[in-house]
Amino acid sequence: LVPCDVIVAGAGPAGAVAAMMLARAGARVRLFDRVRFPRAKLCGDTLNPGAMRVLASHVSTAVIDERARPLEGMLLTGPYAEVMGTYPRGLWARALPRRELDNLLLEQALAAGAEFDDNVVVAAPGVDASRGVVRGVVVKTPDGRRHEHRARLVIAADGRESRLARAAGLAQFAASPRRWAIGGYFDGVADLSNRGEMHVRDDHYIGVAPMPDGLANACLVLAPDVRRGDWSNPGALLTRALRSDARLGERFARARLVAPPHMLGPMAVDARSAGVPGMLLAGDAAGFIDPMTGDGLRFALVGASLAAAVAGDVLAGTLDPAGAVAVLGRRRRVAFAAKYRFNRTIRALVSRPSAILTAEAAARVVPWFFRRVIQYAGDCE
Ligand SMILES: Cc1cc2nc3c(=O)[nH]c(=O)nc-3n(C[C@H](O)[C@H](O)[C@H](O)COP(=O)(O)OP(=O)(O)OC[C@H]3O[C@@H](n4cnc5c(N)ncnc54)[C@H](O)[C@@H]3O)c2cc1C
Repeated sequence: LVPCDVIVAGAGPAGAVAAMMLARAGARVRLFDRVRFPRAKLCGDTLNPGAMRVLASHVSTAVIDERARPLEGMLLTGPYAEVMGTYPRGLWARALPRRELDNLLLEQALAAGAEFDDNVVVAAPGVDASRGVVRGVVVKTPDGRRHEHRARLVIAADGRESRLARAAGLAQFAASPRRWAIGGYFDGVADLSNRGEMHVRDDHYIGVAPMPDGLANACLVLAPDVRRGDWSNPGALLTRALRSDARLGERFARARLVAPPHMLGPMAVDARSAGVPGMLLAGDAAGFIDPMTGDGLRFALVGASLAAAVAGDVLAGTLDPAGAVAVLGRRRRVAFAAKYRFNRTIRALVSRPSAILTAEAAARVVPWFFRRVIQYAGDCE
């Protein structure tokens, strides 16, 4: 097989954008995904204003604008109080099923010249043992056969459960919190507005996003040890959580899941480095804090852009593979450190009922502060 310049593992938003950028710059790029595309992905489906800005710097967002549901802000509720936040200066978020968004981005990568194989599992990094450098990947094809593909660089964009990051000892599920998510699409939800919604409760939270075609995306996030019912029936668990909620119950009384929901967890992933020589991490593979702030897609898109830029320097010979890891790590810290701190604070807050009550009391006294929080979470700065 002809070796290529870059192998990208995972064709989600991070992988597709990295592949697109490198292919546009003239690199020979090979992209693999373990499932057949287009595919669904459990997500709140909301591109916040910051993510929209990053996307617009790479692709025409006309199709997204046409198809997606525009959202002008967020509704944040606790058990007793609520705050309505609006994004500034005419900024909008967009809600679009990931099945559509990810396929649109993949099409852009292919149009740029990347080669794509779906239904192929990237099983392990291929290591040049003599130099301790990653030099490609080992893949498993649908017939169960293993092949090694060589490349000058690998970008691991294979998501939260990244096999490549784990094989290199770079990432692991966080010891705590260990929360799970169940999400699905409903029709018949009453009083959907043009805002995303985050409903924070004592031991769980629920995100609701109005979607195109009159549907709503609802995601429940909770720890599996919360005694809430039968985890083997996630649809019933999700529906019951929505219908028994004091604020959401009436709105979901006649709502119906239009397809079986998806479930995933544990969610939080800690990564200790941006890669190893020959392999760079992008997207959730490089760490994931919590979906509550709704900014994972912006992290994935920016992280992919940073990884692709550094990979471009390696291919051009201006950076060596070890230097590339250090440079990517530095650039990620500059781009993400402040928002990561904010997200960790929010994650800690929602895991403590007493802190939620304090925040609620504060929301009644200084609602403007929480409106700013909503704008910051939406990467409007
Ligand atoms: C419940 C929930 C709600 C969320 N809501 C939002 C939201 O509203 N807004 C937002 O911005 N973010 C949200 N996020 C976060 C967002 O979904 C992720 O940050 C985003 O999907 C990261 O993109 P990615 O490309 O890194 O990974 P992914 O989208 O996970 O893509 C990874 C790809 O890699 C493939 N893959 C995995 N393993 C292999 C393998 N071994 N070989 C080959 N391919 C492989 C997968 O099939 C997949 O296609 C949410 C997350 C969760 C869990």
